[in-house]
Amino acid sequence: MVYLDFAATAPMLPEVLDAMHEAEGRFFANASALHTPGHLALNEIEHAREVLAELIGAKPTEIIFTSGASESNNTVIRTFSGCQIDTSPLEHHSIIETAAKVAGDKLPKLYSYMLANNETGDILDLGEIVAAAQKIPAPEKSELFESVSNWGKPLVTDRRGGYVHSDLTQALGKIPVNVHELGIDYATFSAHKIGGPIGVGALYVKEGVPFTPLIVGGNQEGKRRGGTYNTVGIVGFLAALLKLRDEKSWELYDTRVRELRDRLAERILKEIPGSSLNTDLTPGKSLPNILNASFQAAEGESIQLYLDAEGVVVSTGSACAAGDIKPSHVLMAKTGDAEVAHSSIRFSFGLDSTASDIEKVMEVLPGIIERLQKISTIKMEEK
Ligand code: PMP
Repeated sequence: MVYLDFAATAPMLPEVLDAMHEAEGRFFANASALHTPGHLALNEIEHAREVLAELIGAKPTEIIFTSGASESNNTVIRTFSGCQIDTSPLEHHSIIETAAKVAGDKLPKLYSYMLANNETGDILDLGEIVAAAQKIPAPEKSELFESVSNWGKPLVTDRRGGYVHSDLTQALGKIPVNVHELGIDYATFSAHKIGGPIGVGALYVKEGVPFTPLIVGGNQEGKRRGGTYNTVGIVGFLAALLKLRDEKSWELYDTRVRELRDRLAERILKEIPGSSLNTDLTPGKSLPNILNASFQAAEGESIQLYLDAEGVVVSTGSACAAGDIKPSHVLMAKTGDAEVAHSSIRFSFGLDSTASDIEKVMEVLPGIIERLQKISTIKMEEK
């Protein structure tokens, strides 16, 4: 099988599987318990917190473990219920749909923009957004500023008119990511995009900014996220983080993976009539591991199924939209062209991807596109 759907889920790394297997035996206890096995489990969680914090330029106390990026996104957006929320149609549905539900007209205002897009790989310059947020004067009064700790101390010490959240799910490990340098207040992460387990994620919340827990009813995560600690999952996340940190994976993506991605792009454009790219390959403009391409008069889902039958695994739009016949909201927002959106395929690479994967794709893809274009009701000359 040629697996080119890493942006949907990266297969778990062998190191992750080993670490989780060992953790099932060693860190089985409830990490909130006061006994020794409980402490053992909690120590491992705190280690994971330190590693993630150091990797992204945060303090360990600014990291909250969650069930994934969707929960992290929901938590930040819902913190700003009733407030102005500025986001883009290119965001993940967990941002767009939550913002549509809870946004209001009060200050402070939340800006939520992802650094790198999951469908096209496009990288956004967050500098302008951070600058816009800084220009908004803090409101004199806001319910968001009023939360206090058990000791009556105000929890929100950083009172501003604008705050910035960024979904860094796709960026982590692929390009250098530092929340301090980005100047953001909240950031979202997910373990299964970096070779860790599905169902584990994290949220960076800068010290002193507004925060409302999404899941209440437990003292875990400093009362910021209730629920028994998912120790084994967090240990898996830790193993994936250690690997990407130690091998400086963003450097490998920038060289090896970029070269593969660009080679596939070049061959597609050269060898397949009616093909075009939805990803800007200029270094710095997109993640090095994502290539989104469209094929005139060929439908994305059909291409995906034919490729699947040949053992080549890719995605159309985003996996989260699977079963949904609407064209990708990201490509619609980016291109405004339903045909381009309907005929798009995302190839996403990992560190295990090889030149022979590209050979295999190019052995079968031109024939598949030609066959689909022949039976299409849209004539090629019209394009
Ligand atoms: N945000 C982005 C940018 C994503 O790519 C994804 C995964 N499709 C998510 C959020 C949701 O992640 P999770 O599966 O961890 O909830």
